[in-house]
Amino acid sequence: MSAATCIDLHSHSTHSDGSLTPTDLVARAAAAGVEVLALTDHDTTAGLEEAHRAAAGAGITLVPGVEISASWRAQTVHVLGLWIDPVAPLLTTALAAQAAQRCQRMRGICEYLTTRGLPGDSLLQTVTAHAGLPTRTHLAAALVAGGHADSTEDAFRRYLGRGKAAQLAADWPEMTRVIPWILAAGGIAALAHPARYALSAGARRQLLTDFAAAGGSALEVVTGGNASHQIETCGQLALRFGLSGSIGSDFHNPQFTWNPLGRLAKLPVGVTPVWHGRLP
Ligand code: AMP
Ligand code: MN
Ligand code: MN
Ligand code: MN
Repeated sequence: MSAATCIDLHSHSTHSDGSLTPTDLVARAAAAGVEVLALTDHDTTAGLEEAHRAAAGAGITLVPGVEISASWRAQTVHVLGLWIDPVAPLLTTALAAQAAQRCQRMRGICEYLTTRGLPGDSLLQTVTAHAGLPTRTHLAAALVAGGHADSTEDAFRRYLGRGKAAQLAADWPEMTRVIPWILAAGGIAALAHPARYALSAGARRQLLTDFAAAGGSALEVVTGGNASHQIETCGQLALRFGLSGSIGSDFHNPQFTWNPLGRLAKLPVGVTPVWHGRLP
């Protein structure tokens, strides 16, 4: 794999909270010059088959992935599974439970919003009309469409962000339980966007200690929208904890201009790429 190969190992489709179908996502990635793309929808692999077909047509290498919601202490963390076998039995069963958890959580959030004087039932209907798994992104869109928030950001700020309704109902499995699902599916577990968690430096180190001890082997060192000092810090953390480095835009929607597909910084020197030995 040449150093100049354009790689993006984190993206979403309409099967979770992305705005593009897998086919359109792959086409957009190809147009952006991406040569290796991972589709990593939240808690589902449902888009991978379509993405594989589209990638074959577009001459892109598709890395089968997933972004699993997990807990570490009181914090929600996202664990990427890369190069997973999407039909591996343990993973399939676990993701079915995650889907049920997402639906139940969405009902809980909407019930809470009802107590705040919002039309929770109709918001829930709007969210569940969407074919993919329900996420807070869908609820934010429903809040905006119903005139209850000015924008997605506003919806998160007022209702769905840290310390607000969504926190009441998020009850994800322990990170140490989630990592083995990925390993049993033949995948690599990579901790997503480590700079995005509200943790002290000491707590972040403890998170990485626990992550590596549970079999996690990679860190998403380069994430869309990251500043260069964050990339440096994350690269040092990867080296310190013996983790390889991943890079991914976390692309959701062409309207979110801060994390376009494939426009990513290089891994810091010395960090082993997560694709080492996985790509020709
Ligand atoms: P969920 O997994 O249902 O909790 O939804 C999390 C998703 O919401 C993330 O993957 C982001 O795509 C989106 N999200 C989280 N916080 C914000 C925010 N402040 N503004 C916009 N989108 C956000
Ligand atoms: Mn998302
Ligand atoms: Mn995430
Ligand atoms: Mn993501």
